[in-house]
Amino acid sequence: MAVFCCFCGRSLAEKEAGAVVLKDGQTVCKDCADQTRILYPFRYTKVLTESEDFTHVGKFSYHEKLIAGRRIDPLCDMTAEQFREAMAKSQEAAKAQAARYAGAEAVIETDHVRRFFPNIGSAENPKYGKRRFFGVYGRVVHGQLIPGVEVTVSHRDREYSAKIEELQTWDGSSAGGTPVGKAIAGTQVILIFRQDMSFVYPGDMLLVR
Ligand SMILES: [Zn+2]
Repeated sequence: MAVFCCFCGRSLAEKEAGAVVLKDGQTVCKDCADQTRILYPFRYTKVLTESEDFTHVGKFSYHEKLIAGRRIDPLCDMTAEQFREAMAKSQEAAKAQAARYAGAEAVIETDHVRRFFPNIGSAENPKYGKRRFFGVYGRVVHGQLIPGVEVTVSHRDREYSAKIEELQTWDGSSAGGTPVGKAIAGTQVILIFRQDMSFVYPGDMLLVR
């Protein structure tokens, strides 16, 4: 049976990647779903196990042991009618962000920065090189991001810039990500740099011009 996107009418392949089945059983294609991620992003949660060999200090003390990362898609709770409203609101939000960040191709809000030391030895005999990589974790809040572009951030003293070596999507549950060629507003990302990124602080807005 042929399935069509209930918003744009495009015919969808069976089990098309990224297509979302709504609450009322209708389907939206990935292109349409992506346009609403600016307001309705995926949410990710760690599923933690209850502590056994650990002194409870509070009601919610759990082991940092990950059973599975779970992805929650808010679109799945919408009907086709609600999706149409969500799309209208998202298009308004995208316009507002474009006005707010006039001239910027993309804007990323920083969560935190990690430093990586690549293993230049073997698995049995690890040796960590001096050449460091930096991962900037955050979320695209405006526009469309691709690898290879320069991000800039201004602090009181000066403006800093750096080139994104690799772009990854990040599910928030671990330190690793998945390399991608593009990330849209609403996506959680890891930006990989070959240079020192210790000038980036949580909450910083990185601009791509
Ligand atoms: Zn569509």
